[in-house]
Amino acid sequence: MVERNKNMAKLQAGYLFPEISRRKNALLKKNPDAKIISLGIGNTTEPLSPCITNALRDAAEGLGTHEGYSGYGDEQGLAELRGKIADTFYPKLASAEEVFVSDGAKCDIGRIQLMFGSSATVAVQDPAYPVYVDGSVMMGQTDNYNPLQKQFDGITYLACSPENNFFPGLESTSRTDLIYFCSPNNPTGAASARDQLTQLVDFAKKNKSIIIFDSAYRDFIRDKGLPRSIFEIDGAREVAIEVGSFSKLLGFTGVRLGWTVVPKGLKFDDGHPVIKDWNRVMTTIFNGASNIVQTGVCNALTEQGLREMHATIDFYMENARLIKDAVTSLGYENYGGVNSPYIWARVPGKSSWDAFEEILEEKHVVTTPGSGFGPAGEGFLRFSAFGHREDVEEAVKRLKE
Ligand code: PLP
Repeated sequence: MVERNKNMAKLQAGYLFPEISRRKNALLKKNPDAKIISLGIGNTTEPLSPCITNALRDAAEGLGTHEGYSGYGDEQGLAELRGKIADTFYPKLASAEEVFVSDGAKCDIGRIQLMFGSSATVAVQDPAYPVYVDGSVMMGQTDNYNPLQKQFDGITYLACSPENNFFPGLESTSRTDLIYFCSPNNPTGAASARDQLTQLVDFAKKNKSIIIFDSAYRDFIRDKGLPRSIFEIDGAREVAIEVGSFSKLLGFTGVRLGWTVVPKGLKFDDGHPVIKDWNRVMTTIFNGASNIVQTGVCNALTEQGLREMHATIDFYMENARLIKDAVTSLGYENYGGVNSPYIWARVPGKSSWDAFEEILEEKHVVTTPGSGFGPAGEGFLRFSAFGHREDVEEAVKRLKE
């Protein structure tokens, strides 16, 4: 028989969301009439906007004609779409050749881990979106799980809490090769200020580290003074890669499209450009994102398309306002929900899973236990603003009762 990959064996049992489903199903078994509402998973719920559906339909119909048919395309993405992403999201900050279109940010993060290899040392915000840690574990970038600390040895956890304004104390942080950083953050909802990201870039420069900046929620930022891209920070092009996604911006969680920006000037120790290795990774183990989706998005990244995108984001942000208000009225100290679709609530005197169970049992509302995002998430719950308005209103009513 084949020996199991030792790195896979290090992973901790039960990815967060299957465990939430298990508990939800256990409640339904006990109480089959329970009308459970989920404010848990960050999955989009609102239909695609007309600009997008029209553009996707036209792209699909085009494939049914001799002139419009295309097979494999460039692995890096349609040239026109790369240009549009650069112009729309990175004006004067990145060029089309630095944008690589993909099937999503999560998949790109996995491929980035592959590119850096098993000897790369890693720092992650704690709490964090799980793929940064679990993907690093799979790649062999960590040692064993330490059950006492609830951490993997060999990973540097950058604790982010209300006490440090959700920004790690970098002065006491040791050097790593990679630093994963997400703003606006999932799960804390914190959006980093310009001076914080400047500190991060300076830290990476001093240590010759590379920041993997996840901007999946960039357009949920309401405050015009907050950066939406790491490349808005001086010097970031020398030390950062940015991963972006249409999942939350356009409701593409199921359609799938994302991108990664690798600046041409970003170099490895030996002077080799990172973009060359990224190109090699993408052309070797990726075969390009769907042509229908790429053509559709390309045609929909217009003034009207962007207006519709912002209208859907505004809708979710109104959900966030309603939920934040209800969480506040529950007496929970809470954060986020202003520049991000997540509300991060402290549940004093309880563990995250106990608070999760209590709200599930009493209100039939699903949340996400903060401890599932890392040890510093213990004692917190995440509420997600992705949901139909009537469900959110009903959940809010129950929470306030
Ligand atoms: N990055 C963050 C911070 C996320 O929260 C998510 C999804 O929830 C993703 C990336 C995944 O993006 P994609 O759907 O493009 O793979």
